[in-house]
Amino acid sequence: MRIIFHIDMDAFFASCEEAINPKLRGKPLIVGGNKEDKRGIVACPNYLARAKGVRTAMPLSKAIQLCPEANYIRSTRGLYSDYSKRVRAIFYKYTPMVQPVSVDEAYLDVTDVLHAYKGDYIKLAKELKADIKNTLDITATVGVASTKLCAKMASKIQKPDGLTVMPLGNEKEFIKNIPIESIPGVGKASQARLKKYGINLIADILKFDKDFYESLGIHTDFLYKVANAKTSDRVHFDDEDDRKSLSKEETFWEDTNDMNFLKSELYSLMEKACFRLRKENTLAKTITVKIKYTDFKVNQKSFTRTKYSNMEKDYYDDAVKLLEMMMKSRRKIRLIGVKFSELEESDNAFQEELFTDVDKEKNLTEKIDLLRSKYSFGVVSYGKNIKK
Ligand SMILES: [Mg+2]
Repeated sequence: MRIIFHIDMDAFFASCEEAINPKLRGKPLIVGGNKEDKRGIVACPNYLARAKGVRTAMPLSKAIQLCPEANYIRSTRGLYSDYSKRVRAIFYKYTPMVQPVSVDEAYLDVTDVLHAYKGDYIKLAKELKADIKNTLDITATVGVASTKLCAKMASKIQKPDGLTVMPLGNEKEFIKNIPIESIPGVGKASQARLKKYGINLIADILKFDKDFYESLGIHTDFLYKVANAKTSDRVHFDDEDDRKSLSKEETFWEDTNDMNFLKSELYSLMEKACFRLRKENTLAKTITVKIKYTDFKVNQKSFTRTKYSNMEKDYYDDAVKLLEMMMKSRRKIRLIGVKFSELEESDNAFQEELFTDVDKEKNLTEKIDLLRSKYSFGVVSYGKNIKK
């Protein structure tokens, strides 16, 4: 069993601003734009502003209605990424196993460093929190559990400056009364659909079987894992995990343009690659078919699916089409290869496509796009972008 911390900086942009300008403290603060920026969007309210109902991604005009007395400031260029790096440097003092998730969130696997704390991970969590506070004058909230997702749900329970520890190995019991709204990656439209069937709490998920969900077009892989507290505990912390693609190729004894032979070679390469993906709990979205002609010139074509998969049968028809396009000239080839890319750990992939396309949360996406175009791309990150 791994012991994982999810660390979430509290009202990060606002806290950074307060750290460099303590005069801002003690009053609601809204980072995103000054009061004249009528069309702006709230990038980050501090907790005093949140108490007045101000939320991230809310139009500034609405925030002004709710909280006219707040200090309104524009984002300070470079400040948050600078603090983000400094926070990260503190994490690395405690463990090398750090998976940054966004500018203000990270997973830490502390399992192998606990001997220095005689196994007392709460002591370690407190020390880390105090270190951040003392060094940078900003606060962090820590959630502790044996899976990443449970740790993340734990950190949401008590904020700011919180520390929530789930009973390790017994998270299923702990999370059963948590509302489904708290499952990371399950958006508003999806929640509404589940609620129509009386699924309000995480434990309710297990009341229905796979067929029921399939008939609604809901993918169960991720939901069941969540409800059973069996999601990933793998903290991606080094380059080894940073693989962007998986390839297999085969050089023939004899140059060929025999399509039947090539199709069967193609399938067998896909089979091997997909087996590997499944073993590594990884899914892919894009397949590339590569061929090498007798003169060693290379040709390749790719196809990207709308959904992640690690099943060769899902890719085969499209792969054959790619091959046929490239083999039109009937030139003989000496090598065929396949590459799967846009890889994603399966939990994250399922999370992204929990529901079929009908449920895409357009509204939120638009808001996020707005935030992104206004600030930097790193401002908002979806589950999908969890850095590997
Ligand atoms: Mg945060």
